[in-house]
Amino acid sequence: MSKSKFVDFKAVKAAITMEQVLEHYGILDQFKRGTDSLSGACPIHKGSNPTQFRVSISKNVWNCFSECKHGGNVLDFIARMDDVSILAAANKAIEWFHLDPEEMSVNSEGEAGNEAPKSGDAPRPKPAAKPAPMQEKGEPNKPLKFRLEKLEREHPYLAERGLTLETIVDFGIGFCAKGMMAERIAIPIHNPEGNVVAYAGRFPGEPAEDTPKYKLPQGFRKSLELFNIDRAGKEPGPLVIVEGFFGCMKLHQFGCRRVVALMGSTMSAAQEELIKRHTDRHSQVIVMLDEDEAGRAGREDIAVRLAKFVFVKVHTFGEDGQQPENLSAEEVKQLFI
Ligand SMILES: [Zn+2]
Repeated sequence: MSKSKFVDFKAVKAAITMEQVLEHYGILDQFKRGTDSLSGACPIHKGSNPTQFRVSISKNVWNCFSECKHGGNVLDFIARMDDVSILAAANKAIEWFHLDPEEMSVNSEGEAGNEAPKSGDAPRPKPAAKPAPMQEKGEPNKPLKFRLEKLEREHPYLAERGLTLETIVDFGIGFCAKGMMAERIAIPIHNPEGNVVAYAGRFPGEPAEDTPKYKLPQGFRKSLELFNIDRAGKEPGPLVIVEGFFGCMKLHQFGCRRVVALMGSTMSAAQEELIKRHTDRHSQVIVMLDEDEAGRAGREDIAVRLAKFVFVKVHTFGEDGQQPENLSAEEVKQLFI
């Protein structure tokens, strides 16, 4: 970004959420989700008490009631985590989340973001309650030049999740004994052309407090990919969109082959584009996110955005906490086949 410009902290703050930031640090899964909160151990002072750190989702702020005795916004959080200035934190956020540097800057002098826009100024980005779909810029994920070898296909955790050996082999997943995904279930992620661009590592079981459920390689941009699109894109029928790897693999196992996973409960602009590329105006899309707060918020936003170019149906589960992975073979059959 050009050095002569001032960072508009307000615009940066409005463009990202605490959830995204926690996810960036790979620690989002360590927090317990409440109605409007995330709570857990404080990642700043690295505490162990699971109630001392709290995020308000709607206010997009955090608080540590213990050692830090401090709270703040997303930029304060990054500044504390990485021990840098607010300006450095804002620049990191712009880079990590691929924000448009032009939109995140103010040309006027003085403290960025605090001046009323003069007439004739370029319109400022509006602070939004929810971040607008981000501009996906920069490099695509590069195909990997290696494969994880000797993955253990018959790991008990995979059987526990109800996957058959056929599905396990089909998706190329397995327990990894060593290397960067050591002691995790490695799940290859393919780009639309069918090349492996990353392995996700799922901890086999309920991880301890300081261990993330999922590990993704540094620099991998999951917002650019849709899990299983390389195969689902070629299948007939309605396109089913779920959140997670296991929901996707389970539906596939039960015969629903045109299924992809967002790898989260939100749809990025790049993922929206991928869906567009694999559908036409006669296509049907079924949005089937988890029946929880994040899933309900996500599916509404996704449905509205997809409805502009396909027929969208939103699948809801009767009971809180339900997710696609819980469907029986019979239920899947009735729903999709
Ligand atoms: Zn703290």
